[in-house]
Amino acid sequence: MADDRYDLIVIGSGPGGYVCAIRAAQLGLRVACVEKDKTLGGTCLNVGCIPSKALLESSERYAAVEHALGEHGVEVGKVRLDLAKMMERKRGIVDDLVSGIPMLFKKNRVVDVRGHGRIDGAGTVVVTGEDGERTLSADAIVIATGSEPAPLRGVDFDGERVVTSTEALSFEEVPGHLVVVGAGVIGLELGSVWRRLGSKVTVLEYLDEILPGTDAEIARLARKVFTDQGIEIVTGAAVQSAKVSRKKVTVGWKEREGGAERTVSCDRVLVAVGRRPFTDGLGCDEAGIERDERGRIRVGEDYQTSLDGVYAIGDVIAGPMLAHKASDEGIAIAELLAGQQGHVTYDAIPSVIYTHPEIASVGRTQEQLEEAGVAFKRGRYKFNHNGRAMALGDRTGLVKILAHAETGRILGAHVLGARAGDLIAEIVLAIEMGATAEDVARTVHAHPTLSEIVREAVLDVDRRSIHQ
Ligand code: FAD
Ligand code: NAD
Repeated sequence: MADDRYDLIVIGSGPGGYVCAIRAAQLGLRVACVEKDKTLGGTCLNVGCIPSKALLESSERYAAVEHALGEHGVEVGKVRLDLAKMMERKRGIVDDLVSGIPMLFKKNRVVDVRGHGRIDGAGTVVVTGEDGERTLSADAIVIATGSEPAPLRGVDFDGERVVTSTEALSFEEVPGHLVVVGAGVIGLELGSVWRRLGSKVTVLEYLDEILPGTDAEIARLARKVFTDQGIEIVTGAAVQSAKVSRKKVTVGWKEREGGAERTVSCDRVLVAVGRRPFTDGLGCDEAGIERDERGRIRVGEDYQTSLDGVYAIGDVIAGPMLAHKASDEGIAIAELLAGQQGHVTYDAIPSVIYTHPEIASVGRTQEQLEEAGVAFKRGRYKFNHNGRAMALGDRTGLVKILAHAETGRILGAHVLGARAGDLIAEIVLAIEMGATAEDVARTVHAHPTLSEIVREAVLDVDRRSIHQ
């Protein structure tokens, strides 16, 4: 059918797919985007970044009213939680965002195709939707099918008491005791939400420290902060089983060192042990699209898979599973397909954990530089010396800058503290531009702002911080 011929078919409408589709259409390509779910926006908008941040914000306000207003001289009466309203607000934000994407598609003339997409050889996608099957063809196909929660052997999800992040974003009541398996990003963000709303939270982590991959000094500090907030963190815990009875769940775990067997009884269990690429029913094997040992679609530098004209981006390929990484890859491949110079600087992808305080990083950790034998200089500055942090009542935190010992180029930055996610942006730009610590140190920073902490840390690289 002439109508079903495109320049580009994108499979998946998450932040990778929908952004890729719009950018390609802006560049003059005729584009279709295929989505199997009822709403567009993928994991990020529907059950990921957006609903989790809505609940993190609401629960942080609830906790602040309960615990943090007194020091400002603000007395409040008894605080009451209306969880249903908090959830309604979250749903409203999700609805606003997901309903915006069809409008963006319309404005940019992206054809919105609903149904499950399967690749039937180079250039062909068979879409199975409510109205049956439809065959689309195109010069190029971009796979942006994302990821799903990884299961844990011995622990079966029941959607009720043993759950993934999706259900933990919509509990109808505050669990009395929530056990979280995995002290990664999801475990600590959602553990924080439910802890603030009143749950006892126990986090069981397999490794010896929380937040694997994070700069070790920041991870240690984070562990102390979360423990002080009342989150119980057990490391070196290999979870083996979760037995559901009528009202409780008994989680069985083994001490990694020593092997002692333990159990903990709780009301709900959130399993957050990572996510895995989603390629169900996509037809990879039949079409000859290679995947690696972890199920991720293999791509070259230009995002091309092992099948000519088929590309892949986002969570379904290697790299950090982050919405902005997926989107930037989407823009890059759209520009490459349109004959432009699209690219992503993988050393300058920020990562932000939206706990309180936030944790943000970009570039390499101290441990990575040491292991690679790169000579570096380190600058550090604490939040508790900064006037704005004092005014906010957020004195806990640290900015750590790692710069090349000879050239001074910034190689990494790690921040734990209020609004770390906003503070990191300056260093992301510095890395992208190849700037040195000296360049950032010579930049005027407004007073009194938290950004002055970044400047002091950068000055500290050459031991010339003014307020240290
Ligand atoms: P996805 O967003 O997963 O989208 C893939 C889409 O493809 C889905 O809509 C799916 O239905 C569709 N699809 C799959 N197969 C087919 C098929 N065969 N045919 C048609 N459609 C198909 N990242 C951040 O950067 N910041 C955050 O704060 C953040 N918070 C998160 C919180 C949670 C609780 C979770 C779970 C994740 C979070 N993430 C966050 C990660 C982020 O959601 C992902 O990195 C991002 O969504 C990946 O985008 P994507 O486009 O690759 O895939
Ligand atoms: P993660 O990889 O961040 O953390 C998983 C944790 O589970 C790790 O600490 C790991 O050591 C631990 N673990 C693994 N197996 C275990 C076991 N058997 N017992 C106990 N612990 C075990 O994964 P996640 O938290 O599930 O998040 C998935 C992805 O979603 C991440 O890659 C993250 O980038 C993305 N995400 C990002 C954000 C954000 O950017 N703010 C928020 C949520 C999710």
